[in-house]
Formats: sequence, structure tokens, C-alpha cells
Amino acid sequence: MMKSKGKLTLIGCGPGAADLLTMRAVSRIRSSDIVLYDRLVSQEVLELIPENIERAYVGKKPGDGGVQQGELNQLIQRSVLKGLKVSRLKSGDPMIFGRAAEEIAAASIVGAEVEIVPGVTAALAAASESVITVTERAELQSFIVTTGRAADADTSPDWAKIVRPGVCVAFYMGVAQAWKIQSNLMIAGVPADAPADWIENAGTDKMRNVKTVLGRLAHDTTEQKVQNPAILLIRYPYSLQNEARQKASMVSL
Ligand code: SAH
Repeated sequence: MMKSKGKLTLIGCGPGAADLLTMRAVSRIRSSDIVLYDRLVSQEVLELIPENIERAYVGKKPGDGGVQQGELNQLIQRSVLKGLKVSRLKSGDPMIFGRAAEEIAAASIVGAEVEIVPGVTAALAAASESVITVTERAELQSFIVTTGRAADADTSPDWAKIVRPGVCVAFYMGVAQAWKIQSNLMIAGVPADAPADWIENAGTDKMRNVKTVLGRLAHDTTEQKVQNPAILLIRYPYSLQNEARQKASMVSL
């Protein structure tokens, strides 16, 4: 097996605004030989790539399958074997729903150095812009990221086990799943008045926050025409559990 002198850098480019990139991200972009990007990376960020650096679009195009992960892995391998510094731009943080594992493996297998530059993940940009604290003393002690869309039914997350009292959950890729999320959580006993917030286009000037509650989630998602990319934050603070208990005990009196 040939050994590579090249390097693959997975660069977290945040949710859209160029000024949310880290200085390290900008410095690695500037020192690359080739930059690979997909449609989730914003135009504003692409403008940071110096003109003399080669760039290649490796995402899907409307109507075709686009560059498949296998082809992309081969492109990474060919480039690092030539000794090139390959920067792969990822939206948000590369390690969160970024399919980073496959690209890291492709580069490592040919002996290339791999570096990951962290980025602001969509859920945290969404939390900041909607001014929602995802942990809160005595109310929310865990913050969980999950997905509305699993690769296949067998690996679909069991949200009912995840959304417990004291937990704030961020759903990535959840827009088409609002009804499924609402019904699963309500059947599991999460109160209908648990706050549910959609944050569309976090970290861009098109940001929109749609505020609702679990019991109206599917209705309001449709009515407000929530569009991708969007993050759903659902909070189940302890005080809501206590209220729900009080209501239940009054009913049984
Ligand atoms: N690695 C990325 C996530 C990629 S998965 C990260 O760390 O942010 C794609 C999903 O991320 C979208 O379906 C959406 O749920 C979320 N997302 C990406 N950019 C977003 C943005 N600007 N605003 C809201 N959600 C976003």
C-alpha cells in the first residue's frame, strides 16, 4: 500500500455566517491545495477561499445523485496520495451528523494525516439566536442532539427514551418528521405544553424562530411552513413535570 504525504482537514464552517468560523478554520482554508465543499456550505464561507486555490463541488445536484460518497472518498485518496493538502468544508461541526467517519477512514487507510477543525454546530447557533439556554440550573441538566431522520428504520432513535424530565433535545433533519416526533413524545408522556422551537437558517440573516409547544408542533410546522435547514429544540424542564403531576393528582381527587 502506498503511503501518503498529504493531509485531509475536515473543517467545521458553522451554520452560514462567515464570521462564525474559527480563526483556525480560516487559516487552514487559506493554506490548502484543494478545497472540497457541498451545498450546505454557504456562499459567504466559499468567498473565503483564495482565488488561486482549486475547489471542487462534491455535493448532490438537483435531479441527480451527485458525487457519491464512494467517489468522494476516492477523490480524497487520489489527492492526498499526490501529497496535497485537502480541505473538506463541512457545515456546522464535522463530527455532528457530518458523515465524517467515512472520509477520515478513506484518508487514514492511505496513511494521510487527518486533522479536524471544530465548528459551531447548527443546534448551538439556533440556541443562541433564539436566546434559549439548552441547560438551566435546576431545570434542564442534559442536552442531547438527535435526528428526525435515521439512515434506516432499525437505527431510528427512540425519542421517547431520550426526552425525559430535565432534558433539552435538538433534532437535526426533523422538518418532515414533526408529526412523528409530536405523537411519539406525547404517547411517552411528555406534556403537551413542553416548549418546542423551530429555528430556520440559524446563523444567517434569514434566521426565523417559530415558537410553539409539543401539542401544536405538527400543526404549527405546517401552518408556519417551516423549511429546511431548521433545528427543533424541545425542552422538558422539571417544573413542567411537577405541574403535570399536580394536574394528574387533581383529576384523581
Ligand atoms: N454538521 C452539521 C449538521 C449537518 S446535518 C452541524 O453540525 O450543524 C444537516 C441538518 O443540520 C439540517 O437538516 C438541519 O437540521 C441542520 N442545519 C444545518 N444548518 C442549519 C442552519 N443554518 N439552521 C438551522 N439548522 C441547520
